[in-house]
Amino acid sequence: MKIAIIGAGVSAAAACKALTAQGASVTVFEKARGPGGRVSSKRALAGSFDFGAQYFTARSQAFLAQVQQWQSQGLVQRWEFVPYQYQHGQLSPSPDDEIRYIGTSTMHQMLAGEFEGATMYTGCKINELSYICSNVSSQSTGQWQLCSEQGECFGGFDALLLTCPPAQAKQLLEGAPLSLQIPEQALLPCWAVLLELASATHHQAQGIFVRDGNTRWIAQQSAKPGRHSARLQQDTAQAPEQWLVHLSEDCSAAELETMPEQISALAAAELSRVLGTEVQVAAALCHRWLYASYNSDIPPCGVLFDKKMQLALCGDWTLGGRVENAWLSGVEAACKLLGKAHHI
Ligand SMILES: Cc1cc2nc3c(=O)[nH]c(=O)nc-3n(C[C@H](O)[C@H](O)[C@H](O)COP(=O)(O)OP(=O)(O)OC[C@H]3O[C@@H](n4cnc5c(N)ncnc54)[C@H](O)[C@@H]3O)c2cc1C
Repeated sequence: MKIAIIGAGVSAAAACKALTAQGASVTVFEKARGPGGRVSSKRALAGSFDFGAQYFTARSQAFLAQVQQWQSQGLVQRWEFVPYQYQHGQLSPSPDDEIRYIGTSTMHQMLAGEFEGATMYTGCKINELSYICSNVSSQSTGQWQLCSEQGECFGGFDALLLTCPPAQAKQLLEGAPLSLQIPEQALLPCWAVLLELASATHHQAQGIFVRDGNTRWIAQQSAKPGRHSARLQQDTAQAPEQWLVHLSEDCSAAELETMPEQISALAAAELSRVLGTEVQVAAALCHRWLYASYNSDIPPCGVLFDKKMQLALCGDWTLGGRVENAWLSGVEAACKLLGKAHHI
């Protein structure tokens, strides 16, 4: 069975692993330079910075088993810190029992091996799909053809799995019956800003849940294990303090077209407000996510599947957001495509 997967994020990795383990021939098409999607880290300033998912949790047995496997391979580790919260002008510790995991050195490190059994095209944005029907001994079957932005076409796929954000999936599947079930507004935007400070605040907080204002999350990136460059890890006294600010969904939506310089200034003001001290920024880096986190106003639609067309859609948004749900959705989609019962 020849299967095409669009996207190389967490859900695609889970699906790819499950499909290749069952002997399917899988080809992955990813528009970015490498796998990761929203769990990507960027090499920038004095190390690598997690500009998407900050950490992940494992609440189901199935995903916990996967995380433990990554841990034993040295790809994932626990991020142990006391969370803080900022509410009504007060910043205070807010300890909880949650076990949080991060990728070792980079967030996407754990995914690379999951694509090993597949053929992968990176820097390849698929912008056209066609399903070509054929009638073989009275049974209607078909094959998928995918064409990239660069004009290259890839054909002969028995099945297709889309893992891209819902708005993009809807656009690609325009006219297909399954597209009517895609909730377009399931993911909300987020501006992520990395701020390198000219002088250290020496603040104890490593991760702060911000409950009001323009921000929803702040992390001391430089305190996260393994994020500094090798040189600075040996000489931590030289390491500059780096803070990551995620602006809130509402603020990010309102400032979607604002210039990065202004977004950096806004993030610096937010960091000063929350820490209660005026920060001096030496360097800043912004990343705009058009589709970041799950919109909890929309009920999860579940993994979508059209048996006749051998077409499946998965991704965090089908099961309610988060890395864990992305993984589970990928496994479920693979089971549907293989015609197997789902045992999670
Ligand atoms: C700012 C931010 C903070 C987050 N914080 C957390 C957190 O703390 N904890 C947590 O559990 N989760 C968090 N998340 C959510 C988590 O990152 C996602 O749930 C998970 O990574 C989604 O994986 P996915 O495979 O469903 O989708 P994605 O990672 O979005 O993968 C889809 C892939 O498809 C590719 N693609 C799209 N269109 C095309 C096309 N036409 N052709 C080829 N390729 C295409 C994309 O480039 C992408 O790589 C956060 C996300 C963001 C953005």
